[in-house]
Amino acid sequence: MKILYNIQSVRNALKPIKYSSAEVGFIPTMGALHEGHLSLVKKSMEECDKTIVSIFINPLQFNNAADLERYPVQIEKDLDLLESIKVDFVFLPKADEFYPEEPAIEFKFGKWDQHLEGVYRPGHFSGVALVVSKLFNIIQPDRAYFGLKDLQQLQIISQMVRELNFPVTIIPVETERERGGLAMSSRNQRLSQLEKEQASLLHKSLIRVKEAFLSGKKWQHVRKEVQELFNNHDNCKLEYLEVVKLDGMTPIESFPENDGAVCIAAKVGEVRLIDNMLLDRNVN
Ligand code: AMP
Repeated sequence: MKILYNIQSVRNALKPIKYSSAEVGFIPTMGALHEGHLSLVKKSMEECDKTIVSIFINPLQFNNAADLERYPVQIEKDLDLLESIKVDFVFLPKADEFYPEEPAIEFKFGKWDQHLEGVYRPGHFSGVALVVSKLFNIIQPDRAYFGLKDLQQLQIISQMVRELNFPVTIIPVETERERGGLAMSSRNQRLSQLEKEQASLLHKSLIRVKEAFLSGKKWQHVRKEVQELFNNHDNCKLEYLEVVKLDGMTPIESFPENDGAVCIAAKVGEVRLIDNMLLDRNVN
């Protein structure tokens, strides 16, 4: 495993690989790696000739300074994990090389960022899009792997790649979960054992919505039920629960036939968590 610390060393390391027409797979992360991240990396290693992982806590995508401050950092452990699965390259950009000046560019995504995270985290997707664009330009991967866990992010990056003709294929990867259903997340480290158990309410809610969808119940009915569930759990505060069309990630008032998803965000204690489940009658 080769660790690369600056942009030129990434270009130098990847040049001969590109020249030989080998396929490069890329996984952008913010570190504090867990099995969810590793599932993306392993998929890339199966599908591509070489795999590169970046670890960079991108300040631009944090709309809340305290959230950035509290974001877990464990670089040595991350490198050990990546070494243990024998990834080819790790890129650790330095903030001053990556953002030598205040970026002037901002992204707007129209309907795609008007709801869900776009409302609760203003500027978040612009920051994500900027860092991902820069990484795509530096690494020039053939395939890039993103988790379905961050569904709106995946959709927005896919839209950006389509509109700006980035020569990269975006590969979505299933969400890895803890035994109780809680979606793995770097933020879970900040939950106490009790809070981890409470946090399984997000996944339980999604399952309830999916079952209602499959059995032909009314969305607005189950939505109220889930809100009541949260009202009965002191430490869990529901921020949103929406059924959306995958095209546009816009909320809809009744269950779709297919190509939809249910998306949830809630605070468990001080920790904000998101999760989602696809709603498709053809896929279980
Ligand atoms: P992050 O480090 O949170 O920016 O995540 C890096 C990538 O890992 C993103 O594409 C996430 O969607 C993905 N990811 C995060 N958690 C999970 C999970 N539990 N299962 C699968 N992918 C995940």
